[in-house]
Amino acid sequence: MSQGDRQRPTIEDARRALADHFGYQSFRPGQERVIEAVLARRDVMAVMPTGAGKSVCYQVPAAVMGGLTLVVSPLISLMADQVRALKEAGIRGSFYNSTLKPRVRPEVLRRALAGWYDLMYVAPERLSDPEFRAFAAQANVPLVAVDEAHCVSQWGNDFRPAYRDIADFVTSLPNRPVVAALTATATGRVQADVRTLLGLVDPIVEVSGFDRPNLSLSSFELTPKKREQWIANYVRRHPDDVGIVYATTRKKVEQIADMLRDDGVRVAAYHAGMGDDERTWSQQAFVNDDVQVMVATNAFGMGIDKSNVRYVINCGMPQTLEEYYQEAGRAGRDGEPSECYLLWSRGDIRTCHYFIDNIEFADDVSPAERHMLRERRERLLGEMIGYAMSTSCLRARVLRYFGQRMELGPEGCGGCSVCTGDTADRYLRVERRKAMPEEGLVFGGSRRDGTRPRPARAGRGTNPGAPWADAASQPVEEADVWVHDAADEELFQRLRVLRKSLADAANVPPYVVFSDRTLRAMVRRRPRDEGELLEVPGVGQVKLERYGSAFLEELNG
Ligand code: ADP
Ligand code: ZN
Repeated sequence: MSQGDRQRPTIEDARRALADHFGYQSFRPGQERVIEAVLARRDVMAVMPTGAGKSVCYQVPAAVMGGLTLVVSPLISLMADQVRALKEAGIRGSFYNSTLKPRVRPEVLRRALAGWYDLMYVAPERLSDPEFRAFAAQANVPLVAVDEAHCVSQWGNDFRPAYRDIADFVTSLPNRPVVAALTATATGRVQADVRTLLGLVDPIVEVSGFDRPNLSLSSFELTPKKREQWIANYVRRHPDDVGIVYATTRKKVEQIADMLRDDGVRVAAYHAGMGDDERTWSQQAFVNDDVQVMVATNAFGMGIDKSNVRYVINCGMPQTLEEYYQEAGRAGRDGEPSECYLLWSRGDIRTCHYFIDNIEFADDVSPAERHMLRERRERLLGEMIGYAMSTSCLRARVLRYFGQRMELGPEGCGGCSVCTGDTADRYLRVERRKAMPEEGLVFGGSRRDGTRPRPARAGRGTNPGAPWADAASQPVEEADVWVHDAADEELFQRLRVLRKSLADAANVPPYVVFSDRTLRAMVRRRPRDEGELLEVPGVGQVKLERYGSAFLEELNG
């Protein structure tokens, strides 16, 4: 047994790091299997839905393994934020990409070699830089984590040619590191590409359940005019909630954003027609809770790990169910109840067919291949339309698409518009009902009876023995309370204000300080001292020291 083997960190070490840096007492099952594999020096491919906690899968190993973990990510504009968030958690991070001035690059690499960092985010394009290669050959790299690993496949939507260099980069290192590929994209074809094109060696494959029990799913057919009205009313009725509205064209994005702005909503827009600076501003404003609603095309969102998004409204039909679930899945990453609405019209379907008929191909694509690719796109669109029009459980339908079966009890899933019988009317008749006094008091998605829509597994107690509550789906860390009382709500809002001011002072997004879920748990438990505060999920040693006294004062002062 070599020296290295004896010093190998254990899953217990990793668990301690999880508690200290992130304030969580246990790994989710998928995370634990991935981290165990990495610590045992096995390659892994992890397919986990958005919100499952992929980043912990490499951040925790980075903190306990020694050396420098490299994280390949296509999301260059987010790297600086990710490093700042790591710093908040007490993990030493850095990044290396084209936004770094050439002057400072050698310094970053020098520091990395001198052991300043546990982890470095790197853009795939840098992996073929001679300087970077020379650096990596000298560095001690125990792990290369490939985030958004589906970018290696041209069958996905986000193909990134430089991902093809990763395998060669890994082979070029004097000691082969463990390679961990992570993605939320699940189709078989993409998975196979990830395995072969990243050169994974006998990987452990971890596919987590795709169910997101805290998301309610709704699909409503509405004319273009009605859906704008619906959106205006929905946003008006959720003044404290942060949300994303996806529209299919730049023009619609501008239109909806203007409409909400006229309504007094703090709103930002994001689409490919805007300049880089403008887009960065929008993104930052949203991430920092300076605006309440982001209206965007599908160009927005990959890698935005803002956890407190309470709703995602798709105004228009995405091209594939996969794309839809990715976008909708940006709601509720903190595990709190959140709502996803698909508002579609017959016209959308015609537009989607039109796009497929008019795909532009490179010259060397043969007519037979063109035909095949169009057919494939039509099939994927067919699944999307099937979901939109479904008269059976939407959750079961989307899970089946991802190859996961879900047994439904007589009440259905309890968290989709088909199973609950919910219709679009609620937010179309809002003006008439606006006068009802109790409605304004309720935080979040209020219903006619003032309750919040019950999610699939509400409170984990109100719907015991849900037949699909299998080990594969995400566990839930703590029971939630769905109808928050007014005093609790007031305290929650005060904690949010405190969080915002601390976040602004530290120059990080509010959710990096604590998630909504953690604030809710504080409200529920009312911790009186540091010991009790440390028991709140999401409060670790590092953040306790940084923010503990401020929150204890607000809670007890
Ligand atoms: P993904 O990248 O898979 O979309 P994230 O890494 O952003 O997911 O994590 C989603 C949320 O889950 C974050 O708020 C994170 O803090 C939380 N989380 C991650 N791991 C755990 C855990 N073991 N216990 C509780 N919450 C966790
Ligand atoms: Zn359902």
